[in-house]
Amino acid sequence: MDNLWRIVALDTGTSVIEKSIITYLTDIGHPITIPRIMWYLEGSRRVIVDTSVRDIQVATDIIGENLTRTPEQEPWRALQRIGVDPLTIDIVILTHLHWDHSGNNGMFPNARFIVQRDELQYAYAPSPFFEAAFLSPQGGYHSGFRTTRFYLAEGDEEVLPGLSVVKAAGHTPGSQAVRVKTAKGYYVIAGDAIFTYENLQKDIPPGFHVDVDQALRSMHKLANLADEILPSHDYALFPTPEPQEFGGQRTI
Ligand SMILES: [Zn+2]
Repeated sequence: MDNLWRIVALDTGTSVIEKSIITYLTDIGHPITIPRIMWYLEGSRRVIVDTSVRDIQVATDIIGENLTRTPEQEPWRALQRIGVDPLTIDIVILTHLHWDHSGNNGMFPNARFIVQRDELQYAYAPSPFFEAAFLSPQGGYHSGFRTTRFYLAEGDEEVLPGLSVVKAAGHTPGSQAVRVKTAKGYYVIAGDAIFTYENLQKDIPPGFHVDVDQALRSMHKLANLADEILPSHDYALFPTPEPQEFGGQRTI
């Protein structure tokens, strides 16, 4: 066919965090409410991008932030609402290995997992400051990725026709985005390379980063590759509490 894909954003949790974590040195001390998104892609295969938070208690106990999850936001329930059985997922792409993007890998036992090689390396041996954010085994945490067998991408690679991963380092050393060909053009699921539309519109790098200059270059790279950017943590993506579709020709 035309190798076209449709994209569904699923809201799998809500956090209130300090805004300069999102927009670097901007609105320090202001709260912002953000979603924890799991993405479902349907084309020639069934694909998940990011597996969200496993146990919301991790947020309070280890990360030190407030995270709530309604019954409808439970990841398995969010998939059920759009009629997707996790056992039928062929591929899972992780934009990076932070705790809130890689928690439920075990939900997809039949999938091939894709992450960047340098992301996996860093997640196992991060700077001590970042051990908790990865739930790194090095810090004694139980990460969602510890028992996952990965295909390790190295830079930009095509996954399937119309679907590719794009290196977008800076937030973490091996962050990647996902470029998706749809009936409405190329969408880029940015991961935490672009947290919100404000980062993009005001050219503000993510406040949480390992390399701020690289993070800014990655934002510019992704903007040039996309007709539409889909940021990782922006409630503007969800005008209603329902799952939201992008790029497709039909609504769910
Ligand atoms: Zn992150």
